[in-house]
Amino acid sequence: MNRVYNFSAGPACLHEEVITGAKDSIQNFQENGIGLLEMSHRSRPVVELFHETTDNLKTLLNIPDNYHVLWLQGGASTQFSMVPMNLLPDHGSADYVDTGSWAAKAITECERVGRVNIIGSSRESVYNYIPKEISRNQEATYLHITTNNTIFGTQYKKYPLTDNNTFLVADMSSDILSGPLDVSKFGLIYAGAQKNMGPAGVTLVIIRSDLARLNYRNIPTMMRYSTHVSKDSMFNTPPVFAVCVVNETLKWLRSIGGLTKMRKINHNKAMMLYDEIDRNTMFQSPVNEEDRSIMNVPFVFCDNKISDDEFLKFCDVKGLKTLKGHRSVGGFRASIYNAMPESGVGALIAAMQEFENQYS
Ligand code: PMP
Repeated sequence: MNRVYNFSAGPACLHEEVITGAKDSIQNFQENGIGLLEMSHRSRPVVELFHETTDNLKTLLNIPDNYHVLWLQGGASTQFSMVPMNLLPDHGSADYVDTGSWAAKAITECERVGRVNIIGSSRESVYNYIPKEISRNQEATYLHITTNNTIFGTQYKKYPLTDNNTFLVADMSSDILSGPLDVSKFGLIYAGAQKNMGPAGVTLVIIRSDLARLNYRNIPTMMRYSTHVSKDSMFNTPPVFAVCVVNETLKWLRSIGGLTKMRKINHNKAMMLYDEIDRNTMFQSPVNEEDRSIMNVPFVFCDNKISDDEFLKFCDVKGLKTLKGHRSVGGFRASIYNAMPESGVGALIAAMQEFENQYS
């Protein structure tokens, strides 16, 4: 099969080794004579798969012992609610930074549970930068950030600091595993898998163990972190196949040399593309330079004489797919997650240059 370059923001491209591993697991999981899709989640091979996946993640991210790793369902969107339901005391408040549509959705869900202080927002300028001048509220229980803003292409390069009375909560859906991370700086991290980790259907939560024990209110069993901690993410039937694909991704990341190596590769790909956007007379970046994401790269035409569709069609016939920008930004967006090879970025750059030669 001739594979195209898929620049989708998510679900997104997977590495070929991961796809091969996933395919093998469907046919005959670890030589058990049946495929993974047909196996009970209580069977030993599946329980071991979950342990292996968690161990691989702990190794890659160097996760300290006082954290739990959970594999949940409901997407990152469910975490928008689970975080405040579990972590916010009655009459408590939390600080949120409004850096994009996903951050805004997290704010809306927290407002259903308690008080939100929006301590920074770039909404006025179509979220093209990360607000850095934020002043924390003394009484706020936690600070919530979205480390990478998938739609607007901004990314935190340095995380805000918190003191001992409070903790950081991060939605890392679109940049988890893009490079090394000091997990001890966070109380809770969550991420949907379908961008940098695997397919849709599983959501990673990394939670500090003291926070997983909190019990502020009477919430449904499935919405409690403690439920999933006590049952090793197997309280109900878990998304076994999605976890398997995540495990294949983690094995691939380990095989290439881990997250330090991955960050180098990602940085290089992003710099290649930003250099071309800045050089090319037809395109420009709408994003504040110091906040540019290395995962999602939006770019727009410098003037609107040519329709976006023209460039999208030009790319499409070259096998460069799903480059349409999100409707709130327009133009184009190249999502260049871990699995996007440098050759894909190179092919896009070549297309941008050819387009410039033909149309400028
Ligand atoms: N947060 C971010 C940063 C996202 O990019 C997305 C999905 N694109 C979400 C949350 C929502 O994730 P899900 O669809 O898994 O609920």
